[in-house]
Formats: sequence, C-alpha cells, structure tokens
Amino acid sequence: MVAIVLYNSMSGKKEELQTIEPGKIRFYACGPTVYNYFHLGNARMFISFDTIRRYLEYRGYEVRFVQNFTDVDDRIIQRANELGISPRELAEKNIQDYFDDAAALYIQPATVHPRVTECIPEIIQYIDDLIKGGHAYERNGNVYFDTSSFDEYGKLSHQSPEDMRAGFRVDVQEEKDDPTDFALWKAVKPGEEFWESPWGPGRPGWHIECSVMNALYLGEEIDIHAGGRDLIFPHHENEIAQSEAHSGEVFARYWLHNGTLNINGEKMSKSTGNFIMTRDLLERQDPRTIRFFLLSAHYRHPLNYTEEALVQAEQGLLRIDRLVQSIDHRISALKEIQDIVSVQGTGPRDTVASDIERIRTEFVTAMDDDFNTADGISAIFEGVRQINSRLNETDMTIADLEGYRRVVVELMSVIGIPEKQVQTLEEEVAELIEERIQARKNRNFGRADEIRDELKHRGIILEDTPQGTRWSFAE
Ligand SMILES: [Zn+2]
Repeated sequence: MVAIVLYNSMSGKKEELQTIEPGKIRFYACGPTVYNYFHLGNARMFISFDTIRRYLEYRGYEVRFVQNFTDVDDRIIQRANELGISPRELAEKNIQDYFDDAAALYIQPATVHPRVTECIPEIIQYIDDLIKGGHAYERNGNVYFDTSSFDEYGKLSHQSPEDMRAGFRVDVQEEKDDPTDFALWKAVKPGEEFWESPWGPGRPGWHIECSVMNALYLGEEIDIHAGGRDLIFPHHENEIAQSEAHSGEVFARYWLHNGTLNINGEKMSKSTGNFIMTRDLLERQDPRTIRFFLLSAHYRHPLNYTEEALVQAEQGLLRIDRLVQSIDHRISALKEIQDIVSVQGTGPRDTVASDIERIRTEFVTAMDDDFNTADGISAIFEGVRQINSRLNETDMTIADLEGYRRVVVELMSVIGIPEKQVQTLEEEVAELIEERIQARKNRNFGRADEIRDELKHRGIILEDTPQGTRWSFAE
C-alpha cells in the first residue's frame, strides 16, 4: 500500500510516515490548561488530532496517544482565587467538563491523560538530571534551562538566537543568564500552592511537564508530536531543548501544527467578545454538525466560523443522512417481499463492489496526503452522488444496498461522525409525555392539551392514572 505522507513543521516539507516501531505510533498532543471550559479553537485542535488518530488506526496502526492536562498554572491559581475555591477543585471540575464536552463531540479519550500534579517527583528528577548534565542552573530557588547549552535551540521555529532574544523584553531585575533561558522550576510566591524540592518549595514551569510526560508514557523518542501553531515558540522549541538535552536523541520525528479558527473573519479574542465557548455552541447546535464543520478545512489551514458555514455543514450532513435513510427504506421494502425474491447473493455484485472500492480508495488517497479531511469529505460526497444515481436501478439487491450503506457509514466513522440516531416511537412518546407533565406543573395547560391532541392525531391515546400517564394505540 502507498505510504501516508505528512507535513513536518521541523523540515517544512511533506514526508513519508516511517515509524520507530513498525505498525506502532507514539503520538503526543499538548492538552488543555484546565482553568475554564474549552473554546471552539481548542475544539478544532482536539478534533483534528482525534481524527488523525482514528485515521492512523483505520490504516492499521496501533496508536498510543497521550494528551496531558496542565493542572498547575498561573491562570488556574488566579481563577481559583477569584472563585474562592482551591486550584485542585477548579482543575478537577474543568477536567470533568473537558471529558463531557469532548465526549459530546465524539473526541475519544486518549490512551493516557497525565496530569502535572501526578508527575511532580519525576519532574524534579528530570530537572535534577538537566542540572547535572550542565543544561540548567539554579537562582534563588528558581531553576532555568540554559539555552546556550543546546546548539540546536531554534531549529523548530527556524530562528537564530538573536531573533529569539528580540522577542523578549529585557528586564534589569532579570536573574536569568539569557532572555531565552526559561523556568523549569519556579520558587513559591505567597499564597500559591507548592511542592518541596531540592531547590526549595515551588512548582514546575509549564514546558517541562510535556518532556517528562513524553518520557514517562511514550519514551524519549516519539513518532508524532502535535499542538496548536501558537505553541511552536517557545513551548515546543523548549520541549525539544529539554528532551534532546536529556536523552541525546532526536525527540519527535514529525511535528504537526493545526491552523487557527477565526470567527466571522476575525481572530478569536475573549476581550473583544469575538469568542465562542464550545459548551455554549453545543447547547444550540447538533454536535455532528459542529464536528463536520470543524473538519471541513485541512487541519493546517485557517478555518472561518460563520453561521452560514455551519448551515452549510448541516446541509451537507443531511445529504449523507438522507442517502442512508433512503437505502434503509429500500432494504426494508425488499425484506418485505424477500420470499418472492428467490436468489440472494452473499455480497454485492461485482459492479457494486467496484463502486464501493473506488469510493473507499478516493477517500484514502485524500487522507493519506497529510490527513486532508477537506478532500476526504469531498470524496464521501462524490460517493453519495454516485450511489444516489444507482439507487433506482430496479435490480438492486439487499446485499448491494447494504454494501453501499456500509461504505458511507464506515468512512464517516473514520472522521468520527457516527450514524444519525433515529428516535424510536417509544422514545419520542416518552419525551412528549414528560414535556406534558412539565407543562401541567407550570400550569401551561394550552401546551399540555396541544401534546395530547398531537399524539391523538397520530393514533396514540393518553390515559392519566394515579401511577402516571400511560399510552396506547387507538383501537
Ligand atoms: Zn506541550
């Protein structure tokens, strides 16, 4: 089979995927800092990497996927103080909220979700190793990484040391040897949570956690490291410096960075109000539509959120759902006359099988080229068009129809979009009865009567008894 090609930010080129261990992938993605719900830009990143992971699995790789929770951070301390709760309580709540919102968007849990607070002894040990190796130094209870000790510092962001220094404000009070040196350990400030260390009480800096968690859960050499484009410098540059100084080996083979999500053509920004919290959007939008929209552009490209773009995604999804529905209708119609149709093959006939293979190949070709979901989705639409044009052929068998149905559902599930759940009559009636009870409680008798009439119109009779409301079909 043809190889998967992926764009590596390190080389600035597309490269063929060659894993450290055949058939296995060690995949790390920088996770959220849990001081709040995640916003739609974060959702795009999580969904992009979840889809890449699903696709690699679809192509037969065994993927070990690690995504951390940054649960020690200035923003967590600040927000916890504002809310009058402990940083631990706040982080715990936001981690649960992450799992709820992620599940709603069909983002699978990682193989491991390590937290900083669970890795403190290992972080301290790792910092100690860096000091002993001549890559870090201590000043007044703080420990800094010495960027001049790592020759290749700047290789991911393609900057010279001078370029990087220019990005930092020079502070006369600075105790660091160089502006690009960064904190591995921060001495405790009044009122902050802290851990004991050989350099006094304090807490880890941000960058060190990712190097340590990689080493702990994937090994010191990994295949794919992913994150948002805004993390290239300094975060990923610093991860590389720490990890490669520590192991003496190349840290990650491929660096993947996803593009930004704009809202109405402008950068997302909390201060200007041009900002969408994923949870708020989930309240008014179908999660399948949100996910489908977020995958409509290639993951590296910018994506613009507008209400119209969301409607477009909804309509696209509807086309696919309608095809599956109309296949189902045809299958049940055929099943009703099954005893009349004498011969049923075991699989689709050759022409149908070759249609299915072509649809699948088009999709795989698109996705093999740097996980291009935009083209992958186009391939699904093209398949839907081809299948639609054949559905009315009179000699379609159940096996043919099932074959077509399977390939559409299969490719959609590779990008993480499950089949539309059709509500059963029982579920729908139970929901309406519940709504009627609430309406009556609120003394909204108009709505309660409306529900009774609507059900009656559909041949369903409600009976209110001391044990609750019962329903039956009208005789
Ligand atoms: Zn990271």
